[in-house]
Amino acid sequence: MGRIRFADRLALARTERAARDALRPRRVIEGREGTRVLVDGRPLVNFCGNDYLGLGQHLDLVAALQEGAAWHGVGSTGSALVCGHHAEHAALEKDFAQWLGYERGLYFGSGYQANLAVMQSLLAEGDVCVQDKLNHACLLDGARLSGAELKRYPHGDVEAAMRQLMSRREGAAMLATDGVFSMDGDQAPLADLALVARAQDALLYVDDAHGIGVLGPEGRGSLAVASLGAREVPLLLLPLGKAFGGQGAMLLGSTALVEHVAETARPYLFTTAPAPAMAAAMRASLKLVRKEAWRRAKLMSLVMRFRRGAAARGLPLQESFTPIQPLVLGDNASALAASKALEAAGFLVAAIRPPTVPEGQARLRITLSADHAEADIDGLLEALARAVNDSPAPIPA
Ligand SMILES: *Cc1c(COP(=O)(O)O)cnc(C)c1O
Repeated sequence: MGRIRFADRLALARTERAARDALRPRRVIEGREGTRVLVDGRPLVNFCGNDYLGLGQHLDLVAALQEGAAWHGVGSTGSALVCGHHAEHAALEKDFAQWLGYERGLYFGSGYQANLAVMQSLLAEGDVCVQDKLNHACLLDGARLSGAELKRYPHGDVEAAMRQLMSRREGAAMLATDGVFSMDGDQAPLADLALVARAQDALLYVDDAHGIGVLGPEGRGSLAVASLGAREVPLLLLPLGKAFGGQGAMLLGSTALVEHVAETARPYLFTTAPAPAMAAAMRASLKLVRKEAWRRAKLMSLVMRFRRGAAARGLPLQESFTPIQPLVLGDNASALAASKALEAAGFLVAAIRPPTVPEGQARLRITLSADHAEADIDGLLEALARAVNDSPAPIPA
């Protein structure tokens, strides 16, 4: 057999993706004002962004970013361990650690990178990493990169998690879960998982990308809702690209854990530190997240309005009480058709397909924001009822 040519391989893969409605061209957002986006010259109401609190364009954040850039420049000029770790990063780490009662914080350029770093530096061959099957892709990728054995338990099944830990008593063990599941919007059984982790001497690691800012008093996230803290969850990741309206991710933990990651994680060592101005903007965001409880209250009232309206129209809702409200439609073609119909009606809701969700569970992942108005929700519900109920494909329960 001769060498395979990339041109041939790629053409074949593309044909195969096209055949199962899995092509994923990027849409260009030509402009944005809150939940209003301009796509192909048309204004649409965005119902698939993660700016849950509507902070992404807040003047305080914009001013902090501009001022940060004026003082420190745009780039950080180096990796964190060489010369890229600035006072703004250090201040942000301190703010977060103090807020949630952890010893140390470590600011990464992205959540994806942080998960690779945590797992790669803490786990090794001979260890086990037990994870919920619906965890975010980067937790799975991180475990794979670490060389540890990856075991995945059925979604939310605490007893299965327990069994998987018990079946593997040698080596170090990590139990890792999303706080709020990114494609389903439901919440992990954190209190029970904490008991399992304690009983099995496993390190509980929670990625609260979609809970932080949104849930609990001051937006303290999934841990606050479950009455857990640094003792039960020794390692916590808070991606800041969602409710915080910015970029990067904050890792919180003990000094020993966090320092180890900072000094040994290849995805932290061999990358340029994030912009100091972004750290400044995220400090401004933290102040608003804590103080402006009305954003959470409004968001939750919109979530309830959406759920009531969807139930009244017979739309297939999931058990989610977060701003992530998926409508699972099944095959890729149905999800694409619904997304297209919504766009024609003035709403941007991307069709989420495998590998982001399991095969046969393509969906509209509808996300709400404190920036939406009640009339937006009502308009979306009307358009959804037409788009989904008119679709020829059957809707699985
Ligand atoms: C979005 C997300 C990430 C990735 O964070 P980025 O900063 O976007 O790289 C990690 N974990 C979860 C659960 C997420 O939803």
